[in-house]
Parts: sequence; C-alpha cells; structure tokens
Amino acid sequence: MAAGKTHLVFDVGIGKDKPITVVSSGVECPFCRREQLEGIIAQDGEILLLHNKYPVLRDTVQTVLIETADCNSELSLYPKDYLYRVIRFAVKHWQAMMESGEFASVILYKNHGPYSGGTIKHPHMQIVGLKNIDYRRNITPECLNGEVIWADGGVELNLARQPKIGFMEFNIRAQGEGSVEKMADCIQRMAHYLLHHFHWGCDSYNLFFYQFSQEISVKIMPRFVTSPLFVGYSIPQVSSRAGEVVKEIRSIYFE
Ligand SMILES: [Zn+2]
Repeated sequence: MAAGKTHLVFDVGIGKDKPITVVSSGVECPFCRREQLEGIIAQDGEILLLHNKYPVLRDTVQTVLIETADCNSELSLYPKDYLYRVIRFAVKHWQAMMESGEFASVILYKNHGPYSGGTIKHPHMQIVGLKNIDYRRNITPECLNGEVIWADGGVELNLARQPKIGFMEFNIRAQGEGSVEKMADCIQRMAHYLLHHFHWGCDSYNLFFYQFSQEISVKIMPRFVTSPLFVGYSIPQVSSRAGEVVKEIRSIYFE
C-alpha cells in the first residue's frame, strides 16, 4: 500500500464489456435479478453488498451496495426505519474496509440520475477501497464548511461557501453516538429537496462520504452539465441565491 498516487487507471479491457446504460424496468436491470447476483459479501434483508461485476478501476476493490429490491424506489422515499438501516449498513461496511488496513483510503458514494455518472437506475451505492490513493489529500476543510442550515447534537447541515465544483453543495458533518440517524435524516431531506424543490429543476445528485478523524462528512451535490469554467480553469462558482435557499430548506424541513 502506497498512498502517493493521484490517478486511477481505468481498465479498458474490462470496461468494454460493461453495458453503457441499463433499462431500469423489469428484466433488463441486473440488480433486479437477485437470484443471479454473485459475489455477495453481506446482507441485511433486501440490502446487499456485493463485489462489482465490472471492476474497471485498477488497484482497487470495488463493491456495490444494493439498497432495496424495488427498482423504482429512491432514497428520498424510504420510510425512516428503512433509511436508517441502509445508511447504517453502508457506514458499517465502509468503516470495516477502512479498518482492514488494506487500503490507502476507502470511498463511499452514490450516483442518482443521468448527470450523476451512474449507469444503473436501481437504487445503489458504491464502496471502493483504493490501494494507492488517499482521497483526503484532495479535500480541503473549506469545501466542507458553510452557512449552517440546521445543527443538533453533533450533526450539522450546511451550504458550502467554497464549494468543490459549485454552484450549490450541501454538507453534513456528523460526530458521536447516535449521529448516524440524524445524518441519514439530513441526507434524505436534501435528496428530496433537490428532486422536488430545487429552483432550477434537478434530476441528478451524488452523495460523497468522507472521514476525517472521528468526523463523517457527506457532500450532497446536485448534478448538471459541469461548468466549463470549472473543467478548464478549476474556478468554482457560487450562487447568488444561496441565502434564499438556506431559508427555504429551513422552512420546508426544519420548522
Ligand atoms: Zn432493478
């Protein structure tokens, strides 16, 4: 294990067999054919963790976490008890991979929607152990700070003042006993906000989990076509509507 690398190698030989898009309804979804799923690592009822069938990233261990048997469900729709089970399961297995000592770092993330980078609609997350890359070197403390929307008992939800990409990035920062459920509530509310109330309209988001010492942070990022100013010049933009968005979220979800 050497944490010094900066780039992952995408294995084109494995990638060429991977379906580019998968039709979500019925028989064509690979995550719906549960009896044919292989490489299962762990299970909690409908929630499954399995080895990725197309491990295209070299020097990694890629796993997929199938959140539910219902192809048409979505994280923002789960009843509270089920939501907590999914997030607890994800965090538990993410941390177990970190604690295995086999990786320079381990990433946990979720893609939802056409602009999120995902290819399968069925609700899922991914946990990937990186043998040679420590993602923490790329994450500044500033991009996880922001205007506090809500805070209670070791959990904070904020709107980033210095987003990683822009325009709007929400951060949850959680620490201590019992914080996973509050963190899960915030994740669900922000996913719901983006899909149902976001002023530009939004059908895609990512969740990115980070761990720095005892604190878990989650970045909830609405996704659109990425701004060329960021792609070409690494200049993130912030929205002039930030203050209104903070007030709107408080009034819908926290009052
Ligand atoms: Zn499915």
